[in-house]
Amino acid sequence: MSEISQRVTQASDTELDYDAIVVGAGFAGLYMLHRLRSLGLRARVFEAGSGVGGTWFWNAYPGARCDIESMEYSYQFDEALQQEWVWSERYAAQPEILSYLNHVADRFDLRRDIQFDTRVQAATYEEAQGRWRVRLEKGGTATARYCIMATGVLSSANIPAIPGLADFPGQVLHTGNWPHAGVDFTGKRVGVVGTGSSGIQVIPEIAKQAAHLTVFQRTASYTIPARNAPLDPAAQAAVKADYQGLRQRVSLMPIGAEFYHRDVSALAEAPAAREAEMEARWRKGGTSFGAAFNDLMLSKEANQVAADFVRAKIRSLVADAATAERLMPKQLFGCKRICLDTDYYATFNRPNVSLVDVSGGIEAATAQGLRVAGRDYALDTLVFATGFDAMTGALLKVDIRGVGGLPLSQKWAEGARTYLGLQVQGFPNLFTITGPQSPSVFTNMVPSIEQHVEFIADCIAYMQPRGLTRVEPVKAAEDAWVEHVGGIAASTLYASCNSWYLGANIPGKPRVFLAHIGFPTYVQRCREVVAKDYEGFAFA
Ligand code: FAD
Ligand code: NAP
Repeated sequence: MSEISQRVTQASDTELDYDAIVVGAGFAGLYMLHRLRSLGLRARVFEAGSGVGGTWFWNAYPGARCDIESMEYSYQFDEALQQEWVWSERYAAQPEILSYLNHVADRFDLRRDIQFDTRVQAATYEEAQGRWRVRLEKGGTATARYCIMATGVLSSANIPAIPGLADFPGQVLHTGNWPHAGVDFTGKRVGVVGTGSSGIQVIPEIAKQAAHLTVFQRTASYTIPARNAPLDPAAQAAVKADYQGLRQRVSLMPIGAEFYHRDVSALAEAPAAREAEMEARWRKGGTSFGAAFNDLMLSKEANQVAADFVRAKIRSLVADAATAERLMPKQLFGCKRICLDTDYYATFNRPNVSLVDVSGGIEAATAQGLRVAGRDYALDTLVFATGFDAMTGALLKVDIRGVGGLPLSQKWAEGARTYLGLQVQGFPNLFTITGPQSPSVFTNMVPSIEQHVEFIADCIAYMQPRGLTRVEPVKAAEDAWVEHVGGIAASTLYASCNSWYLGANIPGKPRVFLAHIGFPTYVQRCREVVAKDYEGFAFA
């Protein structure tokens, strides 16, 4: 047992003391708990949901699946685990990923240290004691030296403020908080608001059941066919024969997943050759369509090549020319996240599906449905696929206060500020897994999460034998990091449209680019920081 775990463990019936508190039991929280235990620490996980899984617990909507290939969208920290788990499809569906995470929880006996149905409301750093006090929504507090936020980057659902929404008598759902019992749309007039990744997955599934589906689209997305298929057992066995080889290879890819990156400008090739390349990738399906050329996100002219290709595909797939025109994205290719779909465009050829442009806003919800530009659309069920207050939303929903009682919301009033996306100056011993300004959503997130968990665990392991009890970034390091991350984004086209990468989907949210683009360079930087005795961090 560690020195700190020998402290008083129970101050009162309602206040418990731990070495570390972890908030959230998704991919991040589960692995963090496992690592903390292996350091001999007493850790407690608080999870708002009634089960493990995070994203894959909450997003139980029909059609939900990952868009990173299953063999890569999984933990690599345990060889036996990755050998024994058998994925059934190229892109695993939500129920399968949830089963996998339940398997992980059981395999490593994690549940006994997870408190479900427990939302953390506040976390305050008590400087005199050098401990975090965490307040739980249902009452009671807990304290710990370390507070680790594994609260997720896409876990704070965004429901737009539509006037009159409370007057709509039908069922109102959000894809990110879907009933586990399922929803029967048979015979229903359903409205889906939102055509990002979630909308694009759920729309074809609802269309198969509903009497009528009306899709309310503000911005058309670029989507590439997933071409999901059962995983060939022989191909799976071949990967498993050298799983570490695959993991090593993808760790050097820009997004930490097999990306088939081609180091060729879209403007350097003859039109026929570049069309052939894009056609081959379109047929193969998957996100690597975006890696056909090296300058799609650097040059508007190059970007146009991919954008025009996808628009031509939409024209060929959607029977009604006016609908096809409305489905064609106008913004740059890739500046909002590229989606993967199964039969999305073909869905608009169904007689029971219609598309409504809401780029001018949704006027109101009424007792009958939605009103757009003076016209009423009758609905029984309203589905919001309107995304999340990404990257900072779940963190700022907790009233986090650092040294001197400074609220994190105040520190981040002009936009998130972190060092490496892992820590915030003025908030000692608080760690954020895949926090803002780390690669997070610009990667295959499971390896990103593992890298952060290991960094945090290694940092704590570094502190313990040295008698160090407090770690936080120095201000200069944080300032430089914020500038560095913003500079990378500014050198690309990613910051050129109203995406959630910038916080632009949430009214009033400061527009700051929230992710570090480039996984391998980030990992290398973290290694250098560690090699220089945690350069940029101050210990006490
Ligand atoms: P989460 O899985 O979001 O878990 C966070 C947990 O924290 C949640 O269970 C939440 O209830 C809990 N929590 C939050 N706040 C509190 C609080 N105050 N108190 C208590 N508990 C709290 N990434 C990819 O790389 N590839 C994909 O294909 C992919 N597909 C996605 C599909 C969908 C529909 C969504 C929404 C996201 C997808 N992502 C994907 C991103 C995905 O979020 C990450 O891959 C990963 O699952 C995040 O794990 P996490 O543990 O960090 O966070
Ligand atoms: P999203 O990408 O933010 O899309 C939300 C959609 O709702 C957008 O079309 C948005 O339009 C629309 N919208 C928001 N507010 C609106 C309003 N007031 N009126 C009308 N429309 C409104 O959210 P998401 O689809 O849930 O995806 C979020 C992220 O989760 C993805 O980018 C991805 O990282 C992850 N995800 C991945 C998968 C996968 O395939 N693996 C699936 C789902 C989610 P605007 O574009 O105009 O804002």
